[in-house]
Amino acid sequence: MGRQRVLSGVQPTGNLHLGNYLGAIRNWVEIQSQYDNFLFIADLHAITVPHEPATLAANTYTLATLYLACGLDLNHSTIFVQSHVSAHSELTWLFNCITPLNWLQDMIQFKEKAVKQGENVNVGLLDYPVLMASDILLYKPDKVPVGEDQKQHLELTRDIVNRFNHQFAKPNQPVLKLPEPLIRKEGARVMSLTDGTKKMSKSDPSELSRINLLDSPDEIAKKIKRCKTDPIRGLEFDNPERPESNNLLTLYMLLSGKTKEEVAAECQDMGWGQFKPLLTDTTIEALKPIQEKYQAVMNDKGYLESVLRDGKQKAEAIANQTLNEVKAAMGYSIPL
Ligand code: ATP
Ligand code: MG
Repeated sequence: MGRQRVLSGVQPTGNLHLGNYLGAIRNWVEIQSQYDNFLFIADLHAITVPHEPATLAANTYTLATLYLACGLDLNHSTIFVQSHVSAHSELTWLFNCITPLNWLQDMIQFKEKAVKQGENVNVGLLDYPVLMASDILLYKPDKVPVGEDQKQHLELTRDIVNRFNHQFAKPNQPVLKLPEPLIRKEGARVMSLTDGTKKMSKSDPSELSRINLLDSPDEIAKKIKRCKTDPIRGLEFDNPERPESNNLLTLYMLLSGKTKEEVAAECQDMGWGQFKPLLTDTTIEALKPIQEKYQAVMNDKGYLESVLRDGKQKAEAIANQTLNEVKAAMGYSIPL
């Protein structure tokens, strides 16, 4: 039979950085041909925290374009915008009515984010995992790649499947399919430029801590110039006392395509003053093809919109069918 269907979503918030690329996207691109991939831009999830209407659409375009620029191939992947397929919202309502409140109140991510939002916690933040369950179950995927922070939400999705099938499906004829987690080979862990013990992340308040995929050569040069180092001459991997040395060498290795041994030998006697320009040039060169492709797609809005329109059509055909099956099982059966 065909390839396994895999689904994943990304929120259109913040810029993608080298950690996202080297730790996740690049590995995904490498194995994409083994699967039938569905990738959606999670713009409904993006409003569970206060958001800026003026930039939502632009961020959505940017993210879709970046994925194409990083090598996502439309022969293997369907890219679509979550809010374009209304079945996501509709199924969420149906699931809301079978999901116990305390399941959601127990979600770690809700508790953490609710603390940050103080008194203004909205229902959407609590309901986020139910929307995620809908996102997944509409497509009946074989596998769902989940990071550590989403494991609990996938468990909740599986609980919803079992509850729904138990309440509404005929014995041995499940309506919803239990999704399995896809455990991926861990990509490289890229650390912050300002602290080699912290991971590079979108939510770090300091721009200097990360290199974004769309940073200009000047920005890249500035960030590397200012990045944290240590007073020791000669660079080395795997010395726990020198996290910055390990991180920056790892970046150089991944971006240059050289082996660890080659990099270790090349840099063992180098001072930081010699290494930083080398890393800067290598980073600029490695990001150049991504940035060029990004510009080319961005300059052709018509093409980009046609990609998202095709994605919507393909996604909607599958999603609406599942939604209809769910509604029928729940008793919504009056013909139009
Ligand atoms: P946030 O700070 O909002 O959590 P993030 O920078 O951690 O953002 P995510 O959107 O959470 O980015 O992660 C997207 C993907 O990139 C995930 O697969 C995640 O594992 C991977 N990733 C994120 N940061 C890094 C990093 N520093 N090194 C390697 N992989 C990373
Ligand atoms: Mg994260």
